[in-house]
Amino acid sequence: MEYKLSIAIPIFNEAGNLELLYKRLIPILTSLPVHNYEIIFVNDGSHDESWYIIEKLAAFDPSIKALSFSRNFGHQAALTAAYDHATGDAIISMDADLQDPPELILTLVEKWKAGNHIVYARRINRQDSLVKKLTAFGYYLFLNAVTTIKIPRNVGDFRLIDKSVLHVLHQCKEKSRYLRGMVAWAGFKYDFVDFKRPNRAQGITGYTWSKMLRLGFDGLTGFSLFPLKIAAFFGFFMILTGALMFSYVSYDALLHDTYYPLFKWLVILLYIFMGLQMLLLWLIGEYIGRIHEQQQNRPLYIVGQKINI
Ligand code: UDP
Ligand code: MG
Repeated sequence: MEYKLSIAIPIFNEAGNLELLYKRLIPILTSLPVHNYEIIFVNDGSHDESWYIIEKLAAFDPSIKALSFSRNFGHQAALTAAYDHATGDAIISMDADLQDPPELILTLVEKWKAGNHIVYARRINRQDSLVKKLTAFGYYLFLNAVTTIKIPRNVGDFRLIDKSVLHVLHQCKEKSRYLRGMVAWAGFKYDFVDFKRPNRAQGITGYTWSKMLRLGFDGLTGFSLFPLKIAAFFGFFMILTGALMFSYVSYDALLHDTYYPLFKWLVILLYIFMGLQMLLLWLIGEYIGRIHEQQQNRPLYIVGQKINI
């Protein structure tokens, strides 16, 4: 089978890793049965020598495609740019810091050839701090509880996607991109390759807490309307408990002649009306949710296979 492979690599301050990465990539890529590949480097506004090194590598290797952002736009934007320029039949996205071992590419390709449209590299260990492990665990538990799609655990952005999945990603026009969610959302047949994730070779992580928080929030808002529905819970709860309170004081006042000063009646009524406001807030949220989905402009359906069409 003739095929072309694209390797998509976002780069943010990876000067110490680039040559090492290139040296490890080439033997793997040339060992593939068909020597047709491209490496797409996207320099996401690095402050170091990364772009200079990319220029040097690209000068003698025509299989390198590279572009450089005017400033730092973030990992997901860089990966999107790499996807936008990928022309392969299968596209592999990976980190530049050698945390995603190039040797795994062979297994990813094998599983793709076996008929999978998406092959995720799954970490069986995490070298991260306890805090990061715990927050990641809690986050994915919550995310999977409030979304209808299943976003796999212990999976980052090291994966292979078929060009048909890439086509779907091109059709999703949302601005805040959570690519691992979008890939899971696309459906298709998928499989995993397990690996032990090493520490980054050189440098420090480009993912600050604020960038991670932003990514997490994009995942939540991009794939769940749950946050918009929280008001409904409060609304129903307040109206129900308010009605109970109102029935109780009415009963007490009418049957036992208990005196309730006016402010007590008003407080209960106010409470019920606050609940009503919450319900209206939820209603507005439902409309905003629909506007949000419209703005994301994802395809209504994705065709996996066709017969006689
Ligand atoms: N990266 C990027 N822009 C950023 C942050 C990171 O393009 O703003 C790149 C980075 O160079 C690396 C990949 O995204 O190739 C993953 O980032 P990193 O290794 O820092 O994240 P971690 O593995 O620590 O989660
Ligand atoms: Mg990394």
